[in-house]
Amino acid sequence: MFLNTHFPKAKKYWYKGTFHDWSEGGCHPMMHALHYGTAVFEGIRAYSTARGPAVFRLPEHNDRFLVSAEAAKMKSPYTKDEIAEFIKQTVRVNGLDSCYIRPLLFYSFGNLGLVPKACPVELAISAWEWGAYLGEKAAQGVHAYIVPWRRVHHTQFNMAAKLGGVYVQSTICGLEAREQGFDEAIFLNMEGRVAEGPGQNVIIVKNGTLVTNGRQESVLEGITRTSLLEIGQDLGHKTRIAPITKEDLFGADEAFYCGTAVEIIPIVAVTDGSDPAAPRAKHVIGTGTPGPVARAMIQAFQDAVSGRTPRYEKWLTYVGK
Ligand code: PMP
Repeated sequence: MFLNTHFPKAKKYWYKGTFHDWSEGGCHPMMHALHYGTAVFEGIRAYSTARGPAVFRLPEHNDRFLVSAEAAKMKSPYTKDEIAEFIKQTVRVNGLDSCYIRPLLFYSFGNLGLVPKACPVELAISAWEWGAYLGEKAAQGVHAYIVPWRRVHHTQFNMAAKLGGVYVQSTICGLEAREQGFDEAIFLNMEGRVAEGPGQNVIIVKNGTLVTNGRQESVLEGITRTSLLEIGQDLGHKTRIAPITKEDLFGADEAFYCGTAVEIIPIVAVTDGSDPAAPRAKHVIGTGTPGPVARAMIQAFQDAVSGRTPRYEKWLTYVGK
C-alpha cells in the first residue's frame, strides 16, 4: 500500500499504457534502474490559468527527456507526441489544477549485467501538487552552502541529460548542506568556479546585468534559466552567459536559484565549505534580503506561467478537459 502523504492530490499514475491507483504498485528487486540508476527523468510543472491547467514549456521538456534517453543509450518506446499526450492525460485524470509532473524512463526487469541487454525500457508518469520545493520560508531568501564535492564534469558525462545515477551526487550533497544547517547546496565545478545547485541553476545580478553560466561550466542549462534570461531582457536587463567565480557570487548585488521545482528562490547568504581544511566564511549577498530584481523576476515569471502575459503564451500547453 502506497500513501500519497508526500504527494498531495495524487490519485493515479500512468505506467505501461494504463492508469493505476496511486496506492497500487510493486517493483521487482531485480529492476535494472534500482541498482545502477539507469533511469532518465523530467521535472515539469503545470500551472493554473484562466483557461484551466497549462503545462509550462512542455515541448522543451520532452525534447530534453529524449536527449536524456539518448545519452543513456535508451530507446524510448514512445514518441515525443505520445509522451506529451500521456502527460496531459495524467494531469486531467488526477483533476489537478497546478502540479509537478514526473515522467520517468527506465531499464526495467530483465538481466542484471551492467549492459541491460534483456531489460525493456519502460515509461511511468506521475503528477501531484508540489508546493514550495524549499519550503514556504525560502521565499524570504535562503542560506546556501558550497559543498566540498565538485560537480560531475562535463567531460565525464553529458550534463544536459537528467540521468538518475548522476542525481546521487545531488541527493548526497543536498543532505550534506542540510546536515550542516544550511538550506541548500551549491556545487563548484572542477575548475573551482560556481556550477549549480543540486537541482537548480544559479543566476547572479551585478549592476543590473543578469549573469549565469553555460554547459562548459558543467551545468544543466535549465529551461527556467533560459526563460528567465528572456524575461530579464524584456524587463530591460542585460544578460550574459559567462563563468561565475566564487568572488562574483559573494560580491553580487543579488543571486537566486532557478529551476522547475524551486522556481525562483533568492540566495541571501553563502557559506563557503569548499575547502574542508580552511575555516568557513559566511558571505551576505547584497543586503541579505530578496532584492528588487529577484522580486520583479518572480512576479514576471508567475504572470508568465499563469497565462497573464500574452507575450509568453507561447510557453503554455493547455491541458484541456
Ligand atoms: N540543474 C540541475 C542539476 C537540475 O536538476 C535542474 C532541474 N531540472 C536544473 C538545473 C534546472 O532546470 P529546469 O529549469 O529545466 O528545471
